Amino acid sequence: MTDVLTDTAVVTHYINGALVESTSGRTAPVYDPALGVQTKQVALADEAEIAAAIAAAKAAFPAWRDTSLTRRQQIMFAFRELLAARRGELAEILTAEHGKVLSDAAGEITRGLEVVEFVCGFPHLIKGDYSENVSTGIDVYSTRGPLGVVGMISPFNFPAMVPLWFFPVAIAAGNTVVLKPSEKDPSAANWLAALFTEAGLPDGVLNVLHGDKVAVDGLLNSPDVKAISFVGSTPIARYVYETATRNGKRVQALGGAKNHMLVLPDADLDLVADAAVNAGFGSAGERCMAISVVVAVEPVADELIEKIQSRVAGLVVGDGRRACDMGPLVTEVHRDKVASYIDIATADGASVVIDGRDVVVDGAPDGFWLGPTLIDKVSTSSKVYTDEIFGPVLSIVRVASYEEGVDLINASPYGNGTAIFTNDGGAARRFQNEVEVGMIGINVPIPVPVSYYSFGGFKDSIFGDSKAYGIDGFQFYTRQKAITSRWLDPSHGGINLGFPQN
Ligand code: NAD
Repeated sequence: MTDVLTDTAVVTHYINGALVESTSGRTAPVYDPALGVQTKQVALADEAEIAAAIAAAKAAFPAWRDTSLTRRQQIMFAFRELLAARRGELAEILTAEHGKVLSDAAGEITRGLEVVEFVCGFPHLIKGDYSENVSTGIDVYSTRGPLGVVGMISPFNFPAMVPLWFFPVAIAAGNTVVLKPSEKDPSAANWLAALFTEAGLPDGVLNVLHGDKVAVDGLLNSPDVKAISFVGSTPIARYVYETATRNGKRVQALGGAKNHMLVLPDADLDLVADAAVNAGFGSAGERCMAISVVVAVEPVADELIEKIQSRVAGLVVGDGRRACDMGPLVTEVHRDKVASYIDIATADGASVVIDGRDVVVDGAPDGFWLGPTLIDKVSTSSKVYTDEIFGPVLSIVRVASYEEGVDLINASPYGNGTAIFTNDGGAARRFQNEVEVGMIGINVPIPVPVSYYSFGGFKDSIFGDSKAYGIDGFQFYTRQKAITSRWLDPSHGGINLGFPQN
């Protein structure tokens, strides 16, 4: 399957259970970031292709909605088994198009697989309620049914995990899907859709539409698309939310982040340094839950920086197919943008402790490389602090107290993830209560919730009321009917124009 889906010159749409050649005449390049060369193109959908994908999902909806829960569950179990058995193939696709190292790609798939495993028990989560005899001979009960066609738009940084946050939940609940993956690493979505077909999913239930803003706008503006799940940067998340809600859709739009790690003076600095390096530089910092700012409550900063430096010195940056710790950035343009913050830091008076531009790599010379970068004494007015850099750039901000640190975190427009490192349980508990962030780690640097909790931040990191997966996911993709029922008997007759009451 890998050959069929990924080794073609043009990655094209997957509609109605099969690849469909694009006729739009528009494509975008797909690179192997570790080699720094274009390996494929991806089709960019036009209006006719958008309409075809939505029409396929719409046509598949009635039969899928009426497919028994048992049958849907069997297909989900089969998908789970195939995904678990063949995750290695998918990891290779992720590394070849995103650049993250193979072990990290495998980790991403495992977290997506956990959602599929959670979803396998979905009948329990869409059960209704029943109240007998609410009035004499009258029962009231509720059901949870699907919405119809759901549009999903995903970012480049988790080409497998983010789609897996959404489509298994929506499909289990009886919806049909049009998924628009990132054009930077599009093949994983096709691979997942073909695997689901192999597991027995009927054609048209999961369609993959490749494209750019044209495809996104097509989903946002189609009256046949009833809900939108989006993950990406904050400006686009805001745009998606505003446009789709104006069009009467249900929307969850998860945006960008700037995650702080608060280090109290009593913390174990060796563990803190390990965590900062792992969470700052894993996946080259291209994670929405990456730590990008270490807020060091003095006097720990100098000692912590030394410990981080010694750990970074041992990291191997290179081709993710080799035994490296960190891969390249996703594109040359993104690498150059991330690297430009190092000059901004110097101009703004910060101190560049480790300059990632000097990195020696275990990989091809033209790869989109930037090594781990550590910047101390970052001013909170600098763009290094205020922008989401989304690369391997870790800032240190020094503060005098816990209160100053929490105030700083709460002043951020973002509220995705945060962490506190301390051995003081009271301080950790206070932090959990006071910090205005959706996902909190206590001595855990990347607190991505497990699949039976839900994923989502606060403030500009999410637009809409529903988080991803977990119970929130099923609530988002279903709507409730309340049914009041009376089976007629002669005693129920008579005229009464008053409002129904007990
Ligand atoms: P992006 O916003 O550039 O793109 C996301 C999706 O939107 C892609 O499918 C893209 O094709 C589409 N898109 C891009 N520009 C558009 C436009 N003008 N109009 C309509 N659609 C458009 O994000 P990205 O660079 O792919 O991903 C990185 C971003 O995603 C970071 O900001 C990161 O924090 C965020 N992210 C957030 C979460 C979360 O759960 N909060 C998770 C992963 C990534």
